[in-house]
Order: sequence, then structure tokens, then C-alpha cells
Amino acid sequence: MAKPKDMSFDTKVIHAGEPDPKIEGAANVPIFQSSTFEYSGQKNYDDLKYIRLNNTPNHIVLHDKLAILEGADRALVTSSGMSAITTSLLTFLKSGDHLLAHKTLYGGTADYVKHDLPQYGIEFDFINAMDPTEWGSKLKSNTKVIYVETITNPLIEVAPLEKVVAFAKENGLISMVDNTLASPALFCPIQLGFDISLHSATKYLNGHTDIVAGAIIGNDLHMEKINSKLNHLGGCLDPNACFLLQRGMKTLSLRIKKQCSNAMKIATFLNDHEMVSHVNYPGLESDPSHKKAKELLCGFGGMLSFTIKGGIEEADNVMNKLKIPMCTASMGGVESLVTRPVQTSHSLLSDDELLESGIDKSLIRLAVGIESASDLINDLNQALN
Ligand SMILES: *Cc1c(COP(=O)(O)O)cnc(C)c1O
Repeated sequence: MAKPKDMSFDTKVIHAGEPDPKIEGAANVPIFQSSTFEYSGQKNYDDLKYIRLNNTPNHIVLHDKLAILEGADRALVTSSGMSAITTSLLTFLKSGDHLLAHKTLYGGTADYVKHDLPQYGIEFDFINAMDPTEWGSKLKSNTKVIYVETITNPLIEVAPLEKVVAFAKENGLISMVDNTLASPALFCPIQLGFDISLHSATKYLNGHTDIVAGAIIGNDLHMEKINSKLNHLGGCLDPNACFLLQRGMKTLSLRIKKQCSNAMKIATFLNDHEMVSHVNYPGLESDPSHKKAKELLCGFGGMLSFTIKGGIEEADNVMNKLKIPMCTASMGGVESLVTRPVQTSHSLLSDDELLESGIDKSLIRLAVGIESASDLINDLNQALN
């Protein structure tokens, strides 16, 4: 029989990495709620079986599944998306090094880069990932890492990611991409040539808004170093959360298809609505990221943002009138969520930084769930009218 590795994504997401033979014949991997396991001759520390070393059967099945889904040698799950990001950055950056990072990163990452890395003597410069012509001028002799996101938030842009890979290779940099908003259902960074793919598994990978988790995916050489750093920093995922993540991931393909299809319908509706002044969604042919997204991704994703005529007050009015989406940050769950990023995920940006990044204070971001598209559109329609 062909191995799940050689099958389509829909099959891999269910079967890849699952134990063969099944454990005691169980259809699901039971939760191994044991911090330590009997010593069986392991030669080095990282191989001892212990929850913090991320190597119980609940971890291993996820590592194998994620690596196969993104076509990489190895994956690791972590205690959160931030743990995946900070552990990876600290693996490849030391005192005296310099980082190039996209200027509108996920809020937690941006804050970590700005406020924590300098405390370790690590310098950084922000770049506009959308504009390759400016990257060279920001490069320094001590630049070690370039860091971007597959789909940016909250402007939902897709950068020329293949150029990021080429730039990193030309200049001997480690390339990292936060692939949270795309998920492996839409993009496999290692296949394009990125060194490291990162996830907040809290979002699309798990999909049910009930755990916090992260993932790091890459090839053996890099993952060996990251694994050792993760074991020291201690950002391990609890076996119970591993179980929920494995369960959630099995429906990733179905969920993403529905989210992409819902988002496309909603973006089209909003784009035609007289109260709406602008919609950011790469699925719209008029969107500046449409061509790049079509070339690089297998779908346009479940995130969109828009501005309406009027200002912040009108935006808040519309959000408050919505009955289906809950008002909060986060994304990637089965339920739709709506937020004004300046109030939540991007509240730490100064007025200058908002202006520089082109983020309007009245921008509304919608993380589309798997509800009925027509119910969501009717809800938006009544709120806008
Ligand atoms: C949520 C998120 C993170 C942080 O993940 P946590 O699981 O909350 O630690 C990182 N990057 C992106 C793009 C996110 O959306």
C-alpha cells in the first residue's frame, strides 16, 4: 500500500504520522499522561523520554504529521506560537547579530523584536516585505536572519516570498516565515526554500479555539539546533493539548476549504456594498496581492479586513451590531471573530507606526469561520445598513 506521504493533502492530514501498528488497536493515540518513561539505553539527553523534551508518543505523532504535511524533514510542537517564534529566533541570533523583519508582524512578535531582542544585544531593522528593492540597503555584515509572514495581518498582504528565499540564500541568512495565516493547507514554506516555518497552532492548525500551541518545521540540520534550544527553554506542549491538537488537525483541510470559500463570498459582498470604502482580501482580482497569492498559495485564506465610510465610531457601531461573530482578537477557529486591530492585536503600535504601515484606525478585521456564508453576509448586511 502507498504510504500517506505519497498521498494527497486530504489523506495525509488524517493518516500521516499515525502509529502503525495502532497502539493497543486504538483508533486514536491515547493521552500518555506520564512525565517520565523507563530508561532504555538512550545515549544523549535530548533522547531521554520526558514531557519537557517533547518526545512522548503524543508529541511524536504530531511531529511526524506536521513534517509530512509541509514536506520537511522534521517538526516540533511547542507550548505556544510565541514559544515557537522566540525559541527559533534565539537559536539563530546571538549577541552582536542583526535581524531583518517585516514591519507589520503579529503584535507579540513585533513587541518581542523591539523590546526583548535589544536586551540580549541583538539588533534589528524592519523592512517592507512587499518591496524587495529596499531589502539590500538594510542588510548589514552581521545580519543573520530574515523574518516574514506568509499572509500579513491585518492588511492581508502576500509578499514576494520566493524573493525572500532568494535574498536569504544570496546573503547567507536563515529565512523564517510565520505560516500561521496560511496553514500547510495553503502553503508549504520549506518546499519554496524557506529554512524555518513557524505556526501558532492555536489558530488554523487546531481550529477549535480551545488550546494554545505552536509548531516549528524545517530540515534536520536546523531542527537539531532548535530542538536542543527548545529543551533548554522548556516550551513543551502538554500531552493533553497534543491530543486536542491532533484531533483538531484532522479536519484542517475541510475547515480551510470552507473558510476560504466563505471569505471569498463575504469579500465580494463587502466590495460591492455602498457603505464599504475598501476591502483587503487577496481573492479579489483587484487586490494588490491577488497575483502573488494565486502564484504561491493553494487558496486565499479565511482572513479579510475592510474599512467603512465614516470613522472609528461607525466601525465600532457596525461591529457591535453584528450578531454572529464574537468581537475579539485571534482567528482560525470554526467560529467567525471580528475585531478592530488597533484596539486589540495591534494596540501597541504608535500613531507613526500605524501611518507607516498603512493601518487605518477604523480598519475592521474579520476572521471567517465555517458558519453558513449567507448567514454571515445577512448579518453583515443588517449591521452595515
Ligand atoms: C496568534 C499568533 C501568534 C502567537 O501565537 P500564540 O499561540 O498566541 O502564542 C504568532 N503569529 C501569528 C501570525 C498569530 O496569529
